[in-house]
Amino acid sequence: MRNIPYGHQSIDDEDINSVVYVLKSDWLTTGPKVPEFENGISDYIGCRHSIAVNSGTSALDIAVQALNLPKGSEVITTPFTFAATNNALLYHNLKPVFTDIDKQTRNINPDKIRKNITPKTRAIMFVDYAGQPCKIDEIREIAQENDLWLIEDACHALGASYKGKKVGRFADMTVFSFHPVKPITTGEGGAVVTDNDDLAHKMRLFRNHGIDKDAKAEFGSDADWAYDMVELGRNYRMTDIQAALGISQLKKIDTFIAKRKDLATRYCELLGDMPQIETPVTMEKITHGWHLFTILLSSMNRGKFFSFMKKQNIGVNVHYIPTYHFTYYRKNVPTNPAHFPVTEDVFNRIITLPLYPGLMDEELGFVVDMTKAAYRQIT
Ligand SMILES: *Cc1c(COP(=O)(O)O)cnc(C)c1O
Repeated sequence: MRNIPYGHQSIDDEDINSVVYVLKSDWLTTGPKVPEFENGISDYIGCRHSIAVNSGTSALDIAVQALNLPKGSEVITTPFTFAATNNALLYHNLKPVFTDIDKQTRNINPDKIRKNITPKTRAIMFVDYAGQPCKIDEIREIAQENDLWLIEDACHALGASYKGKKVGRFADMTVFSFHPVKPITTGEGGAVVTDNDDLAHKMRLFRNHGIDKDAKAEFGSDADWAYDMVELGRNYRMTDIQAALGISQLKKIDTFIAKRKDLATRYCELLGDMPQIETPVTMEKITHGWHLFTILLSSMNRGKFFSFMKKQNIGVNVHYIPTYHFTYYRKNVPTNPAHFPVTEDVFNRIITLPLYPGLMDEELGFVVDMTKAAYRQIT
């Protein structure tokens, strides 16, 4: 059996041809393909603005920057995510206030959000873990009652929906990633979507050095050569090469998700007879993006299971090590893990099994067989 990774991009000839087309054109970096990709995302989601950048991490960074919160403001967030989610708060001297998760979905628990609100709280940054939308109605209600901004890290959840509406239509700003393992890819890439004109304007400035080409009054109205720098921005621009791939990939997002769902359903059926394993639970009234397929092990040492599967060339993984365990966080945001009993329990027992649109049925069967073999062979 070949090596089976936990996630993998799906690239076809149409994707390749669209990139080659750009390579033969006049524009390599930001040209006509970037706005075309942005319009494609906005149309797909049904939102006003889409700002494409060079990674999901950059997208989180400009989203947080756009809020312009006072130093030391508290932002309620989940520790059960990729570090980039929480790092975006540290870039802007904000305090991540970690909040425990729900065991079934691994998403932030709204009841625990309420308990963590203080007079310094300004925003909630939540993650749709594995592509399953959070309890968005509850989170929005808390935000409204307490006058808080909402940033949704939907890096797993492009194409997922909640009560019939696409993820991207709920928070003040929603962030996507186009890394190869994510729902669609541009190699590296990311985007923020929003309906807020002011935030969109600011984020467009932040991704390009803070340069405003329309603000040149200082040099006279006939100074066509002039531009102004009005904010401290960076170079987070997406290239046309990436955007062309994104345009082509976006056409296939619903097919990708349908394939992921089929495979996830098959896993649940085949692993369902194992009392030692908890397969993932899908909430009602949502469409799951199935970025990750994770199980919880019981009566089994996770380290031993991990090594056993790795020996079979199966790319199991642990999503995620809670952020507060990392050295940088222990130094700068000291946090007692005992305050997060659900996060700790899930972290200690979770394993990601391979899931991506190109995973073959016999490969999935092999992963299931080896999962069962692990329980027979490891004591
Ligand atoms: C992948 C990911 C990111 C970062 O995206 P990049 O495009 O890799 O920078 C942020 N948050 C979450 C939850 C992710 O999974």
